[in-house]
Amino acid sequence: MSDYLMAILVEFTGGDFAPDHFVRLGTAALFWGLLIWAAMRQRRHDPQRNRLLLIGFTLGLVRELFMFAVLSLSFSKTIPNALMQPFTKPVEQLLTGVSLVWIASAYLDSLLDARLAGRYLKGGVACLLAAYLATFRGWASFSGSLPEANFHASGYGVTFHLAGAMVLAAALVFLWRVSGWRRTALLVAFGVFFLDDALGLAYGISSESAITVLGSIRHGLHMFGIPVFGYIYGRELWEHHLTAEREALRSRERYQKLVDTIEGIVWEATADTLRFTFVSAQAERLLGYPVSAWLSDPDFCHDRIHPEDRGWVLNICRGMGYDGASRQFEFRMIDAGGGTLWLRNAVSVIAEEGQPPILRGQMFDITERRKMIDSLRESEAKFRSYIEFAPIGAFVVDHLGRYVETNRTGAAMLGYAEAELLDMSIADVLPPEYRETGRQNFERLKEVGSASRESLLVRKDGGLLWVSLQAVKLGHDRYIGFFQDITERKETEQALISAKDAADAANAAKSQFLANMSHELRTPLNGIIGMSGLLMDTDLTPEQLEYAGIALKSSKDLLDLIDELLDFARIEAGKLLFEKRDFNLQTVLKDTIQILSLQAEEKRLQLDWEVEPDVPLHLKGDPGRLAQIIRNIVGNAIKFTRQGGVAVHVSREAEEGGLVTLQLAVTDTGIGIPQEYLGRIFTPFVQVDGSSTRKYSGTGLGLAISNQLAELMGGSINVVSAVGSGSIFRIVLPFEKQEQKPMKNQEGENRTVFFNRDADAPQRARILLAEDHTTNRRVIRMMLNKLGYEADAVANGRDAIKALESTSYDLVLMDCQMPEMNGYDATAVIRDPASHVLDHATPVIALTANAMAGERDKCIEAGMNDYLSKPVLVQDLETVLSKWLEKR
Ligand code: ADP
Repeated sequence: MSDYLMAILVEFTGGDFAPDHFVRLGTAALFWGLLIWAAMRQRRHDPQRNRLLLIGFTLGLVRELFMFAVLSLSFSKTIPNALMQPFTKPVEQLLTGVSLVWIASAYLDSLLDARLAGRYLKGGVACLLAAYLATFRGWASFSGSLPEANFHASGYGVTFHLAGAMVLAAALVFLWRVSGWRRTALLVAFGVFFLDDALGLAYGISSESAITVLGSIRHGLHMFGIPVFGYIYGRELWEHHLTAEREALRSRERYQKLVDTIEGIVWEATADTLRFTFVSAQAERLLGYPVSAWLSDPDFCHDRIHPEDRGWVLNICRGMGYDGASRQFEFRMIDAGGGTLWLRNAVSVIAEEGQPPILRGQMFDITERRKMIDSLRESEAKFRSYIEFAPIGAFVVDHLGRYVETNRTGAAMLGYAEAELLDMSIADVLPPEYRETGRQNFERLKEVGSASRESLLVRKDGGLLWVSLQAVKLGHDRYIGFFQDITERKETEQALISAKDAADAANAAKSQFLANMSHELRTPLNGIIGMSGLLMDTDLTPEQLEYAGIALKSSKDLLDLIDELLDFARIEAGKLLFEKRDFNLQTVLKDTIQILSLQAEEKRLQLDWEVEPDVPLHLKGDPGRLAQIIRNIVGNAIKFTRQGGVAVHVSREAEEGGLVTLQLAVTDTGIGIPQEYLGRIFTPFVQVDGSSTRKYSGTGLGLAISNQLAELMGGSINVVSAVGSGSIFRIVLPFEKQEQKPMKNQEGENRTVFFNRDADAPQRARILLAEDHTTNRRVIRMMLNKLGYEADAVANGRDAIKALESTSYDLVLMDCQMPEMNGYDATAVIRDPASHVLDHATPVIALTANAMAGERDKCIEAGMNDYLSKPVLVQDLETVLSKWLEKR
């Protein structure tokens, strides 16, 4: 601006009092007016500087008006020129000088701002030059010592114009930053002034006429150049220069706001005295002290730091002033309410050339975090003490299984010092043969995150230690485990397992013994029963017949007793096995009750059975055990009934999915059971009539066995009874239904059957008996004859095959255990289509003394059709034969 001003001053301080001076003063006044207008427009952005400018510009305007008044007075000759000159010159000089001082001071104010200093320095220098020229030229014009024409021609004039031209040239360089049309316009304006000065120089050295012509040209140039210059400068001042300052102001405000909104306290302090020179508004919000207190109190920092932290914090800060290194630390300050605040301070040192170092930093409130850390530390300390003094072993390992921590109990259990364990890993306390398993288990723990197992560890002294171990993943790369010594329990377990094995072995031996015994006892019994039966069929005296009858009866009772004891022993030993196979309920009932009907017939009792129509007949289960229960309950009913009858009624109790629960109600009209016995008759060896002269035979085991069988099959037996009128035993048993629906009821639709003994001999058929035991062979052959069958007998499987190759038999009774070739192998040959046996489909009935469970399956698997347990009873033989011969 001063550059422009200088040119103006050159203009309005030069020349004599000619009419064109009014024009020149008018345009100069217009120029000042424009400057004032521009400065007023800027007022709101930087009030201080604009006020100075405004005063400077107004004084410039006053000076023009003053000169205008002086000129007017001079032309009107109101006051003689000679009288005015002594006053006008000092007043004009004074106004010019003061105006320039105000304008310069406005710019000097800007100079304080370091960033703008460079720019205003140029303006300031130009301003001073202009002031100098103004004074010099004004003095030259108004001193009266030099006429105007002479002035231009004088050495002063030449110097003046030369200096003016140089200043304008310099101003052109300064103003090069203006761009576009404004630069062009300014160039023109400066060009004009430059030309004016050039002409001024020429003026001083040319003739009178030339002076007049040149003077006119100069005045014309002034009229054109000054308004253009004033307008451009006004615009420039407003749009460019002050806009930039306004931006700077705004960015300063933005910066302040930003700093104030930063979460932490932004601060600046002197490094030596630690006095705050700046703090952001957050300081007041966080600690409650006003920002002014931070800045005004030189001991603020010292007084507000927590006494425990004060010393070292101040030392650190002061130290930073010397070493210049940045630091971060956490410390406490006392807030306005007297509370303690934890702050994290990040401080750096700003050291500028020739300036004392300052500290700049940011403080964050970390009180909450510190509280959390403190409580974490506290709970960690607690946790550590729990672990350390826990009565169980505890350890922490890393991802390689190396001990990172152990507790004293754990170390003591392993016989190591805690420090020793820290140099070891899990593998070191495992027996060598378990190390690979241990490694795999550890890998699994890493995957799954937890593990629980029993492990064998090796103590430092080589002793073995069984532990129960629980381990969990603690976090990245850490696993914690707890272990308890269970060596004693393990030893007890081991002892128990050995004892159980021994007991199992003993039990197995007992079962084997029982099986053997039953075999050994049944074989001679078979002979006695068979022979007694045959003996009774010969001609005997009544007395002999009675004795033979008693012998037969006793033998049968003995056989029953052996069977029951065997079953009971098996149940007791838990050795009783159950089959699961398809069977027809009606067939089982018919076959079982058919046998019992003989006894009923003998006692002239009515025995009938009925199956409800909705009862499914095709079931899956153990038909042998079902028959055994029915035999026992119905047998008892017949035994304890003198007159009347026994009825078996089968109904469906429940059916769900593939399961059906049946109820078999056995009703008799017998002696009944006294109330007090009802709860006990299922207990082994309990009988109502326990006297030595008992009327009814029996062991007192039948009901106990039946009841346990029913329970093992998932069912139950209950009884209602009244002495003198009879009893009802209800057997409830669940069975699976067969999956495939049978074609049609092959057993016939009639589910109600009444038995009457049919003594007629069945049709004749040829039977082959294979049996190695001579007595048995004789007995069975006699039985067969008695039943009306013809039978050939052989002593082993090989002879049986030979016989079947030459003769076509209707049925084969095959002993299982025979020398040379046993019954299973012989049956396989019969069934083999490649063998020379005439009829491969001949029914084969197994005869075996081995009453153990599974025997039946073994026979059926070998290709046999049915099974008779030795000693063979006539009735059983008759049932089986009629069943299989009927089918032929
Ligand atoms: P056993 O018949 O061999 O004596 P059980 O265990 O079969 O042994 O029967 C135990 C007792 O229960 C019988 O001795 C008898 O006193 C009584 N009892 C069983 N069934 C009946 C019944 N239907 N009527 C009357 N009493 C019965």
